[in-house]
Parts: sequence; structure tokens; C-alpha cells
Amino acid sequence: MLLKTILNLVEKHAGFVYERIAMVAEGGGQQIEVEVRCRRRSRPVCSGCSRRGPRYDTLSRRRFQYVPLWGIAVFFVYAMRRVNCGRCGIRVERVPWAEGKRQTTHSFEWFLATWSKRLSWTEVAQIFGTTFDTVFRAVERAVEWGRAHADYSGIEAIGIDEIQWKFGQTYLTLVYQIDVGVRRLIWVGEHRTLATIQGFFDWFGEGRLATLRFVCSDMWKPYLRAIRERASHALHVLDRFHVVAKLGKAIDEIRATEARELRRRSRGELLKGSRWAILRRPENRTAEEHIKLRDILRANLRTARAVLLREELYVFWTYHSRAWAGKFLDGWCRKVMRTRLEPMKKFARTLRAHRELLLNWFDAKALSTGIVEGFNSLAKLTMKKAFGFRTYRAIEVALYHRLGALPDPPTIHRFC
Ligand SMILES: [Zn+2]
Repeated sequence: MLLKTILNLVEKHAGFVYERIAMVAEGGGQQIEVEVRCRRRSRPVCSGCSRRGPRYDTLSRRRFQYVPLWGIAVFFVYAMRRVNCGRCGIRVERVPWAEGKRQTTHSFEWFLATWSKRLSWTEVAQIFGTTFDTVFRAVERAVEWGRAHADYSGIEAIGIDEIQWKFGQTYLTLVYQIDVGVRRLIWVGEHRTLATIQGFFDWFGEGRLATLRFVCSDMWKPYLRAIRERASHALHVLDRFHVVAKLGKAIDEIRATEARELRRRSRGELLKGSRWAILRRPENRTAEEHIKLRDILRANLRTARAVLLREELYVFWTYHSRAWAGKFLDGWCRKVMRTRLEPMKKFARTLRAHRELLLNWFDAKALSTGIVEGFNSLAKLTMKKAFGFRTYRAIEVALYHRLGALPDPPTIHRFC
């Protein structure tokens, strides 16, 4: 079977034919060059207005990288025509296998983008003999196409989350669709200001807001405000994951202060190396951490009291009725306010201030609120894999690509 026959099966374009195919030596290796020719009497398509027009002249030959074959780089070679367009004047023609001034074919770009879902961009560039930049632009294009063709109608539940970026110097705002059956990243914004989240609602639009029933978020003030102002008809739920994370911070503060005091009184060994024993969930603790925690509890430290209060609060989310959960929460907050654990009291005051939003959780049982937590760790993993990305655009593209569940175009052949 000739290569040309295969090409006509996987990549046939009306008005063009494949001609001579040859191996050529290039930069110490071998490459396959496929000559492409336009059909005689065919008229070129104007790149300005997409209409056919008379040929004006022909430019010198250009190379377009195609999907590699058996590890050998493949290029289409074609001399572009210029069109004498009645509307646009003299313009370069549009060809169906590549866009504008790009040196890569659509097929090769989709090939790179598909592999980039499984491997890091650097690995893809190395394996398929191209540059990081080419891979980035291929993924960026796939994301742009996917965003333009994705269906964002009928969304009922969203989760708004923030994630640290640039070693914690700044934040990104991520919005997920968290409907049962459809879970995906739908929007990324730089920073976590009121303007950022307003930007999301502007993009989302009034039409889509109409179907929205649940919004899940943390207690970040700009988010709360924007949700109140723009989506007041939806049930706003404070996510358990974020509440527990905030409580963890309060306990960590108590532990750090107490550890300093104990060191001053030469009893530092009691809390030494205890951070993870305290922060980790019971099911994730190691045997040593269990012992450490037992010692802390026996010593009746402030840290121990805080840990016990936290374990008690977990019961809150096991209630079935909103009213009983409310009673429990009030009792828990009262108890905390009677202690002298300042960071815990601050946390309890925050809970009181957001009582209604917290209780909304019990009216949104249909919602699997743990999803935001799952997405949060996936997003972190994507950012870790994308190590080396310095620009916001690259991070944005990587996140949409991995977590956006974006559609692919229908093609006659799938290369991978
Ligand atoms: Zn034109």
C-alpha cells in the first residue's frame, strides 16, 4: 500500500492532490516530505472572506508539519497561491489543512493536544520532535475550539473555588459545574477579587443564570458578595471542605503558639513533630501519629481541646434535618465561646455570621459537595505537572484542557 493511498484515506481535501512523497535528509535525521498540489483549474479560496477568486500568482513552497509516521517527522510541502479577491484585494489563499501563517497542520495540532492530556507539555515536545511552544499553541487552539463549541446550557449547580498560584503570591478563581453526571471546570479567572468573580457572572450571562439552582463556595467575602448580588435566586451553600480547612488553620495557630510556650518551659518535646498528627483526618493518621495525639490529649493541652472540638463539629454534617443541625451548631459555638481558645472563638464567630449559608447545606443534599475538594486537588496536580509555566495564559489553558471536558472536532481519522 502506498503512503499516498493512506493519506487519501485519513486526510483528503477537495481541490488538492498528493503528489511525490520522498525521504529527505534534514538536520542529521530523516524526514518525509509530501508534495501537495492544487487541482488544475481549481480556484483558490480568499483567506479574508472565504470566497473563491481568480489566482493572482503563486508564492514559494512552504512546509507544514504533519503527524509523524514510525517516529519520522512528516511535512506537507505546498506553494500557496494568492487570490485576486474582488472584496479584499490580493490575499493569500486559505488551505484546509492548516490555519493562517502556522507551520503545523490541524491534524498535527490535535495530535499534540490529545497527547498533552496524558503527558506533560515538555514530554510531548520531546517525544514528537517539536518545541514546547508548538505544543502550547496546539493545546491553546484545542481549548479555544473546545470553549467555542462546548454546551454550557442547563447548568444547575456550580462550585466556586480559589487556588494559590506562583508559590502562594497570588490566587486564581475556578468555577466548576457540579451537577450529577456533568462535572467540569467551566471558568478560570486571574486573582480572587470582586472584579474577578463579577467577570465570571458577566461571562455566564443572564440566560444561564435562570437555570442555576445551587452555588457552592467558601467564605471569601468577594465571592459571598457577588453571589448575593448576582445569583440570589440560587441556594448558596458553604462547602464543608472549605469550612473544615478554615478550622484546621485555627487549630494550627493554637498549636504553634502553644509549642512556643512549651519550648520556653523546656517541655517542647510534647508538641514536637505533632503538626500532621493534629491536622490529618483520623483515617489518614499513621500509628505513630495516633500515639502522638494520645499523648497530647493526656497532657490536656489547649491544642488537644481544639482537636476534640473539631472532631465534635464533624457531627454537624451528619444531621438530616436543618433545624436539628442548627441547634447543634448553636450549641457548639456557645461551647467554643466559653473557652479561651482565641482562634477557635474567631472561627465560631465566622460560623455564626454565616449560619444560614451553612445550614443551606441540608437543603442541598442532592449535591455532592465533596466534588469541589476533588477538583481542587486535580487542579493542584495540573499546576504541578505544568511546572515551568510562568504566564497566567499557560496555566489557564492547561486547566481548561485537563479539567474542562471540552469537545473535540469531528474528524475523518483519529490519530491517537
Ligand atoms: Zn476576499
